Amino acid sequence: MAVSSIRLFDAHCHLQDARFGAGELDDILSRSRAAGVSRMAVNGCCVEDWPLVHAIAAAHGEMVVANYGLHPWWVGRQPDHWLDLLRQRLLANPGAGLGECGLDRSRRAPPCPFEEQVSVFKAQLLLAQELQRPLSVHCVRAVGHLREALAEVRPTAPVLLHSWCGAAEDVRAIASAHPSAFFSVSGGISALPPAKAIRTLRAIPADRLLLETDAPDGGLRLGPAWLEALPGFARSAPPCPERQEPAGLRRMLALVAAARGEGEVGLAALTWRNACAVFAGLPAAR
Ligand SMILES: [Zn+2]
Repeated sequence: MAVSSIRLFDAHCHLQDARFGAGELDDILSRSRAAGVSRMAVNGCCVEDWPLVHAIAAAHGEMVVANYGLHPWWVGRQPDHWLDLLRQRLLANPGAGLGECGLDRSRRAPPCPFEEQVSVFKAQLLLAQELQRPLSVHCVRAVGHLREALAEVRPTAPVLLHSWCGAAEDVRAIASAHPSAFFSVSGGISALPPAKAIRTLRAIPADRLLLETDAPDGGLRLGPAWLEALPGFARSAPPCPERQEPAGLRRMLALVAAARGEGEVGLAALTWRNACAVFAGLPAAR
């Protein structure tokens, strides 16, 4: 298969984000198709944006898998019955995954007692397990709490650890303890020192690796240390747009292939298969 004919699955993005204009979706999707990115999982973050995610998936079901969840940044700012609303939405949409949910102890997260985040996350982990839906998880400075929650629930439904930036040791520990855990890599990994990021990328087992843009965030920011660590990639890399979109997944493919010392064609096929395993049974995977 030629590089031009590869197909890619963007395992996590946010096409409903207000930074994408209402009339832009068709152009974004056609640029995505032209780049070989023919499937994507679109994640809702709060009750308010679920209807928009639903509308995008309804209009573009051949490309888009809907995911509905409560992101940690919105915890404490939702109607009391948010969990009932989430359950109803998932039951009404058998093709949907659960996400984005998770844990965030960074300063970027709005103030909220961390215990509340943990209980909201566990409720969604249990719901995904009960309904056997893939779960898309945000985890920032909270890998210990994530591992505790996974050890408690022992999910068998796929758990996609989105924009994974954790250490190689955590990859090995989570991958061996949880056969349904997947590690999804976005441009966020370029915030790490390259040596650490490359160790992490090489530690991810081949059958657990996914690629994502996290669009409109998740752009690659490659400083001089990165350019030195991966000179082959840097020479061929086009400049990174301010606002990421699914077509940018080709750059992630190039980066991860260079970091792992693998070919782009093989890595595209591998990550496509893995994403279809995560979203197995959902319409976009067929
Ligand atoms: Zn996200």
